Amino acid sequence: AHLDRIAAVDGELHAFLHVAGDRALAAAAEVDREIAAGTVASPLAGVPLALKDIFTTTDMPTTCASKILEGWVPPYDATVTTKLRAAGIPILGKTNLDEFAMGSSTENSAFGPTRNPWDHDRIPGGSGGGSAAALASYQAPLAIGTDTGGSIRQPAAVTATVGTKPTYGTVSRYGLVACASSLDQGGPCGRTVLDTALLHQVIAGYDRKDSTSRDVPVPDVVAAAREGARADLSGIKVGVVKELHSDSYQPGVISSFDAAVATLKDLGADVIEVSCPHFEHALPAYYLILPSEVSSNLARFDAMRYGLRVADDGQHSAEQVMAATREAGFGPEVKRRIMIGTYALSAGYYDAFYGQALKVRTLIAQDFDRAYEQVDVLVSPTSPFTPWKLGEKVDDPLAMYLSDLCTLPTNLAGHCAMSVPSGLSEDDGMPVGLQIMAPALADDRLYRVGASYE
Ligand code: GLN
Repeated sequence: AHLDRIAAVDGELHAFLHVAGDRALAAAAEVDREIAAGTVASPLAGVPLALKDIFTTTDMPTTCASKILEGWVPPYDATVTTKLRAAGIPILGKTNLDEFAMGSSTENSAFGPTRNPWDHDRIPGGSGGGSAAALASYQAPLAIGTDTGGSIRQPAAVTATVGTKPTYGTVSRYGLVACASSLDQGGPCGRTVLDTALLHQVIAGYDRKDSTSRDVPVPDVVAAAREGARADLSGIKVGVVKELHSDSYQPGVISSFDAAVATLKDLGADVIEVSCPHFEHALPAYYLILPSEVSSNLARFDAMRYGLRVADDGQHSAEQVMAATREAGFGPEVKRRIMIGTYALSAGYYDAFYGQALKVRTLIAQDFDRAYEQVDVLVSPTSPFTPWKLGEKVDDPLAMYLSDLCTLPTNLAGHCAMSVPSGLSEDDGMPVGLQIMAPALADDRLYRVGASYE
């Protein structure tokens, strides 16, 4: 049924870069055999999924929506891919994204944008717009995204779906092609909080193949989502972040958020306002730290090891082949960030830019620590805006970056956060998301509050 749905609507929406119908059906048939034999692996066995095209898969290409990796079929599966397969979850295909997960609209994909199922002239968010659009258009009931600065949560918000950025280090990055290693985290996406929790439980856990993986128990997010379904938040303290509530946000987003806060109070939560004064510096700090890590990580695309190679005609030096390949293979946003990062890390500027950004990162983590002394979770709008029109911000990178204002602090601190649908904006009828944030390793709180609110 999902493959039929993809065939019917994805020509228009372009959520998928690659569909693996035969493989998915074979995986489903295997689950049928397990059900017959009474050996079924997990509660999600047989439930199909859309995988962001930044996780390696041995049976499908992994392109990161970049020309530099066009057609590349990796020799190994990401740990997330392995866990999905082991749980009997058929992978329908690989979803579209901004090139190497840099962007907020999926328009930076080298293979063309994805459209928002709510309005085909609008963006589906980014970088994981393909996964979110696949969910919102019923092409897949589950999806996997990655969140470096909001790429799971913002697409969830603008498509009225659910997405979680788990605590840094709790979902393996092995086989997740690196964007910014200290920020990247894979995570689950669904149409309900409980579906998302069930998927979270499948993909989380320690992995010795990831040096930043945390060897700690994963909180029981499924139990928390079930507890939340009782819709009782008495005893839960919720903090509204003053700095993430501004007149510069879209009025319809603010009114939807204020209504959400009233609902949390009605559910019994104790709501107070908290201040996180350094959050206003999250955006400039992130847009130095991320490009710095990108400039280093993307050095591996050197025309020798993977994918594209141009000017390899015997007339050019290795260095010329490398330069020509990177010139032809990377899109403008990726090049922009490589240049910013290279500059920020260069001798003489390191302390002024990168070093300074790291200090801000610490101050943001301290703001969170102080806030969590008073409350269990923090809330804010997920994005200051509803989905905008395709093309509207492509020539203005700074305007695009502003849509990450509310999501970035969580990544900089290594904490967890979720976006749940919060109705439609009264000014344009487009979806709005409520962001719920919790401290590191308290992912269960997101599900408790998210399921209650939902
Ligand atoms: N929009 C942010 C950026 O462009 C976030 C990206 C992400 O989370 N992968 O960097």
